[in-house]
Amino acid sequence: MENILEVNNLHVTFKTYGGEVKAVRGVTFDLKKGETLAIVGESGCGKSVTSQSIMRLIPNPPGRIAEGSILYKEKDLTKIQESEMRKIRGKDISMIFQDPMTALNPTLTVGDQIMEGIIQHEKISRAEAKKKALEMLKLVGIPSAEARLKQYPHQFSGGMRQRIVIAMALVCDPEILIADEPTTALDVTIQAQILDLFKEIQEKTGVSIILITHDLGVVAQVADRIAVMYAGKIVEAGTRREIFYKPQHPYTKGLLNSVPRLDLDGGDLIPIPGSPPDLFAPPEGCAFAARCPYAMEVCDRAYPFKTSLSSEHEVDCWLQDERAQKLLAAMK
Ligand code: SF4
Ligand code: MG
Repeated sequence: MENILEVNNLHVTFKTYGGEVKAVRGVTFDLKKGETLAIVGESGCGKSVTSQSIMRLIPNPPGRIAEGSILYKEKDLTKIQESEMRKIRGKDISMIFQDPMTALNPTLTVGDQIMEGIIQHEKISRAEAKKKALEMLKLVGIPSAEARLKQYPHQFSGGMRQRIVIAMALVCDPEILIADEPTTALDVTIQAQILDLFKEIQEKTGVSIILITHDLGVVAQVADRIAVMYAGKIVEAGTRREIFYKPQHPYTKGLLNSVPRLDLDGGDLIPIPGSPPDLFAPPEGCAFAARCPYAMEVCDRAYPFKTSLSSEHEVDCWLQDERAQKLLAAMK
């Protein structure tokens, strides 16, 4: 499958009074046409910062893309002019956030808000824009679309509001949709409906989706591939199958043990003890070492190499790398 987006060695830092936070530390991945890639990790792991970098929404200052490239249609999004980025943002690459209320303007009808996006990006009459808005409301499964267009956000339930936000994000037929914790604010039944909606929309439109979440449970339903982030790095990436059935990184295993599974009769849920390291001064070695039940001496001393377990499965862990023992011997 063709890549639609390629992120290479992305580093993002934030200046604070306490020093420089290294929020993203060399992230590389690609997004294939028509797939859903999930980026999973605990809060503060850099997953939202990664997605905001793609949209070039990192507030600068204090934030900065310090290194790396983000290739979209032969353009490096980290380098192009803001005027050019504005044409891409919301049109070719669109983003939705966790809380639908913050994305919606309470004083405008949902029709006007959905239409705003197209009018901004395309030369289109109001009548045509309205037609498109109606089409979008139908696409996201809002009944009586015609009447609903004239209503205000508060007249919709939380789940319906998230559907409207999705309609707004899709109105310009983007090629990439980035969804940052799109179901976290919703209750479980509604969550499932919204995730089904993503799949349905993808089948109909072919949009490529980056789904950002802390919840591996969410990913099980929709992701084709999964990238697990920890302390600003992708520590394991693979197909959904490989990540769920053959996880190799102790952090991935920890995440899997801490979510309820319907498909496996798991025992008790075990939270991962400890907390992620301080990213002012990230450890030289594996950032998970302090929490890892398998940590060896080499883990503190050097960051593991990326090891390919199959054409679709990579992991950064010394346990998978036969060079660990040699390196350790050389250090002594
Ligand atoms: Fe654990 Fe070492 Fe693997 Fe890090 S590199 S996850 S500390 S075994
Ligand atoms: Mg976040």
